[in-house]
Amino acid sequence: MCAVFDCRMCGHCCQGEGGIVLAPKDLERISVFLGLEQDIFIERYAVMHNGKYKIRTGEDGYCIFFMQGKGCSVHEGKPDICRAWPFFRGNLEDAVSLHLAKEFCPGIEQSVTHAVFAAEGKRYLLEQGLLATDASQSAAALVLPQVCEVK
Ligand code: SF4
Ligand code: SF4
Repeated sequence: MCAVFDCRMCGHCCQGEGGIVLAPKDLERISVFLGLEQDIFIERYAVMHNGKYKIRTGEDGYCIFFMQGKGCSVHEGKPDICRAWPFFRGNLEDAVSLHLAKEFCPGIEQSVTHAVFAAEGKRYLLEQGLLATDASQSAAALVLPQVCEVK
């Protein structure tokens, strides 16, 4: 939670196929959280797509860790890409993307301007250590460090 975002637990962002990338640090964190060896975690819960591991989708079309009415069942161990929403690269760089994100996600403060959203988002990502560490392994929507450089 921060000044421009407060998740309403609607689950929209946990729905869909193949969007939740597991970079090496995510695999380590979520495996430890679940008390599993990484290879066991991968076998049970991940798929490889375009060279990156991603969390499996359940038969209901949601992330396999999403529980209807309860939200994320691995909240403390969830990947950086889930922690970074709604401060994705596109939403920080483009006002139209932010407009669409507001329609999709009721947790984004509807009245926030793009400039304030982008400034708050960069501050949040820096503070939380949620920048892309390696473009070949990190989720494409994570912001690269140079985007958040203090000028
Ligand atoms: S779409 Fe927004 S409000 Fe809904 S669960 Fe995701 S972050 Fe929370
Ligand atoms: S790991 Fe949690 S927050 Fe991320 S998509 Fe799955 S249920 Fe949603």
